[in-house]
Amino acid sequence: VLLATDARAAARLLPGLRVPDFHPVTVVHHTTDDAPRTGSALLLDADRGGPVAHTAVISEVDPSRAPAGRALISSTVLGTPPSDLEAAVRTHLARLYGTSTHRWETLAVHHTREAVPAMPAPHDLRRPVRLLAGLYVCGDHRDTSTVQGALHSAHRATTAILKDLGAAGSMHRADPTPTAQAA
Ligand SMILES: Cc1cc2nc3c(=O)[nH]c(=O)nc-3n(C[C@H](O)[C@H](O)[C@H](O)COP(=O)(O)OP(=O)(O)OC[C@H]3O[C@@H](n4cnc5c(N)ncnc54)[C@H](O)[C@@H]3O)c2cc1C
Repeated sequence: VLLATDARAAARLLPGLRVPDFHPVTVVHHTTDDAPRTGSALLLDADRGGPVAHTAVISEVDPSRAPAGRALISSTVLGTPPSDLEAAVRTHLARLYGTSTHRWETLAVHHTREAVPAMPAPHDLRRPVRLLAGLYVCGDHRDTSTVQGALHSAHRATTAILKDLGAAGSMHRADPTPTAQAA
């Protein structure tokens, strides 16, 4: 059994598993007729001049995510959001994109209280994924609180499973042998 859930669900299913503290994340979605000219770039505010950690014109990456014919701008606020979130984000975005955001329409604000496990120092980057032979756990809470951490912990867990099953070796053995042309 490989348990691949968030930390809280994992601890519910396997009592005794550690539940970390979490950081909240808020994502604000705006739409406008007139997309900022930043293409698909992710903007990071190195000056930390407002609540937005990073923002992008998501419709430049995937137009199907936006209302028909309009641009979708999605912006991420890390930690506890300010009480004047909407106004503060709008002002910050105007500075980051170098354009007026007065007419941007707020489509949605999603606040996730337990978005990412906290990683206070000293953080254990390699929490065990093999609890016993036949029982494994993976997820961002076993590694770093990122997509990369979740994938890395899954790789560690599947490697342990293969080893316990006596099938250690390349995890890609089932892939067809590349032909000279495909390689
Ligand atoms: C708003 C937000 C923004 C983020 N931004 C970034 C970012 O920019 N970069 C980055 O690297 N990371 C980011 N993260 C963190 C990243 O999304 C997570 O670290 C990553 O998704 C964790 O993957 P996971 O597989 O451990 O858990 P999850 O992605 O939480 O997947 C666990 C799955 O288990 C399912 N599940 C729960 N209980 C059960 C059950 N009983 N039975 C069956 N299924 C169950 C859940 O429905 C879920 O689909 C962000 C997270 C949030 C919330």
